[in-house]
Amino acid sequence: MPSVLAYHRPTSLVEAGELLKDVNRWALGGGTIVVPEARKHREVGIEVVDLQGLGLDQISNEEGVMRIGSMVRLSDLVANTAAPELVRNAARRELPSALRNAATIGGTVAEAESESLLVAALLVHEAEVRLHDQPSLSLDQYLTGERDGLVTAITVKTAGRGAISSTGRTPADVPIVAAVALSTGGVTRLALTGVGATPSLVDPVDPLANLDPPEDFRGTSEYRRHLAKVLSARAVLAAAGGESNA
Ligand SMILES: Cc1cc2nc3c(=O)[nH]c(=O)nc-3n(C[C@H](O)[C@H](O)[C@H](O)COP(=O)(O)OP(=O)(O)OC[C@H]3O[C@@H](n4cnc5c(N)ncnc54)[C@H](O)[C@@H]3O)c2cc1C
Repeated sequence: MPSVLAYHRPTSLVEAGELLKDVNRWALGGGTIVVPEARKHREVGIEVVDLQGLGLDQISNEEGVMRIGSMVRLSDLVANTAAPELVRNAARRELPSALRNAATIGGTVAEAESESLLVAALLVHEAEVRLHDQPSLSLDQYLTGERDGLVTAITVKTAGRGAISSTGRTPADVPIVAAVALSTGGVTRLALTGVGATPSLVDPVDPLANLDPPEDFRGTSEYRRHLAKVLSARAVLAAAGGESNA
């Protein structure tokens, strides 16, 4: 049985919202996950709802807050010199360049892979998730909730000095664990990747509190806790003005 039964390209948010009320219709951002998933054999076919026609690909900046439309590609975020350096750096390190040209910030946030540096960078920049027909949520709330609804934009506070400290099998590999810190007016925010189901904010003073990382072939839970401790200290120091790892 073909897995994709229909393709929709709505031209208004209302139309897109109505289409997506059916759980067998999937929002299509850049498609780096949706397309390979949609090609798999499944009992019940799905339909895709392409978000390209909704004008959600704009970036604007007002009074220290940047609004990034959910269909902004990671490559456009990297190229935008008004975007916070930490966000640009994290977006550049997220995927190979060919995939960055396709992947969107909305798809990245909706998927929120455990190892997403960009989601971690958005967390420390106090990101909010704007949703169609629903109240906005902090990214932190969004990640711990159902993650349903059509994401229309992400907003971030642009101020602060950021740093990323990470360990991977090679420099080109996706980090096993990464610590992403931002210092703003003496306040530090810290997020970790690779230690839970999604990236998460942790206490910069006690980053290991409540941390129970999963293990895989790249590292045991204890190894990941060790990395989290060492990398957190480095990232916090660098964000505060010490040696930078960003
Ligand atoms: C080879 C490869 C390497 C990868 N490496 C990484 C990596 O290093 N780090 C990482 O984090 N991820 C990685 N990924 C996963 C994936 O590419 C990213 O999460 C990507 O950024 C998803 O964005 P997208 O726009 O392509 O999403 P899509 O594939 O279009 O969608 C992903 C999910 O989000 C939903 N969605 C999309 N847009 C919206 C919206 N506006 N509102 C609500 N829901 C929406 C879709 O329905 C789907 O469930 C990799 C994938 C591949 C194929």
